Amino acid sequence: MKPFTFERAQTVPEALSLIGADGAFLAGGTNLVDHLRLGIREVDALVDIRRLDLTEITGTETGGVRIGALVRNSDLAAHPLIRQRFPFVAEALLSGASGQIRNMATTGGNLLQRTRCVYFQDLTTPCNKREPGSGCAALEGFGRYNAVLGTSEACVAVHPSDLCVPLAALDAEVLVEGPSGPRRIPFAAFHRLPGDQPQLDTTLRPGELIVALELPPLPLAQRSTYRKVRERASYAFALVSVAAALRVEGGRVADVRIALGGAAHRPWRAAVAEAALIGQPDTADAFTAAITAELAPARTGPHNAYKLPLIRNTVVAVLEELRNGTTARRRAEQGGEG
Ligand SMILES: Cc1cc2nc3c(=O)[nH]c(=O)nc-3n(C[C@H](O)[C@H](O)[C@H](O)COP(=O)(O)OP(=O)(O)OC[C@H]3O[C@@H](n4cnc5c(N)ncnc54)[C@H](O)[C@@H]3O)c2cc1C
Ligand code: SF4
Repeated sequence: MKPFTFERAQTVPEALSLIGADGAFLAGGTNLVDHLRLGIREVDALVDIRRLDLTEITGTETGGVRIGALVRNSDLAAHPLIRQRFPFVAEALLSGASGQIRNMATTGGNLLQRTRCVYFQDLTTPCNKREPGSGCAALEGFGRYNAVLGTSEACVAVHPSDLCVPLAALDAEVLVEGPSGPRRIPFAAFHRLPGDQPQLDTTLRPGELIVALELPPLPLAQRSTYRKVRERASYAFALVSVAAALRVEGGRVADVRIALGGAAHRPWRAAVAEAALIGQPDTADAFTAAITAELAPARTGPHNAYKLPLIRNTVVAVLEELRNGTTARRRAEQGGEG
């Protein structure tokens, strides 16, 4: 492992002053420490940010919620404001990792966790994300987990976060501080598609620190849910996942939000499906037509073609459940945790 300095920051300005050109902020460490050990990431400096005062969850005057970047995943999932106003955020968090990891992992770190593509983590194989220009072993190799939307010739990896899927549906904002001052990044502009620069997961600039996340008010989200399809009942990343919220009036869709996980290099807002559904009957046929339109540009190979029917069926099942008002029953049957 390359030697690095270790500093513990007490304030945000101190953290920004310590980070340097090739440093990394250490939050929960559940992703970064593995990457340092494996040699996927090399840094000159590690700046521990765990003492920063970024652990508050507060309701905003307009009915939204502001979440400090260092709020632990388990604390966020349990918070009454999140459970009442944004239940699909709590469900997504509880479906991720394990209780122990959720007790360590932070909100900011969850947004910045890196792909679980098996080749990204294997230093013996080519990977454009790990080493730009080296090639992409996943294109011709084991492709079961590969993305189906927004891929490029350079990278077909998916974003692994559960939390980020409902955040995409919510139009959350990421609040950052950096060398050029504070700025707000709309969630849709935070994670990138791979294009020809798959080494860049996000639009965060060098040296910038996430300080908070803001969820705007969305009464619709009180009737929302998150469903994760995976290979084991727990402790596994999503093959595909769906975050959705639905309002029906007089048998027609009045408002809807849909986002997909396990589908693309970033959490995928299903804007085509949403637009297609407004004003349509709240039937399985209409739900199927809308998600089929969303998936029209999808590209698959022999190993991941299964994702298209899986996404379609999961979206339709989730929307039917929201329409029928049976989400609460399913949650109770599952004991609240996925
Ligand atoms: C075995 C295992 C299973 C998992 N399963 C799931 C799962 O099913 N679903 C899921 O969503 N996740 C899962 N995870 C991922 C886990 O949620 C992430 O590792 C975690 O959220 C990262 O948070 P952290 O605070 O530990 O980040 P760290 O590891 O500390 O940091 C991750 C990255 O973010 C940067 N960073 C952290 N905070 C900030 C900040 N405030 N500003 C700027 N940069 C920052 C760090 O420099 C680093 O680059 C799993 C992890 C493990 C180890
Ligand atoms: S899909 Fe992306 S992360 Fe995986 S090997 Fe190819 S370039 Fe690397």
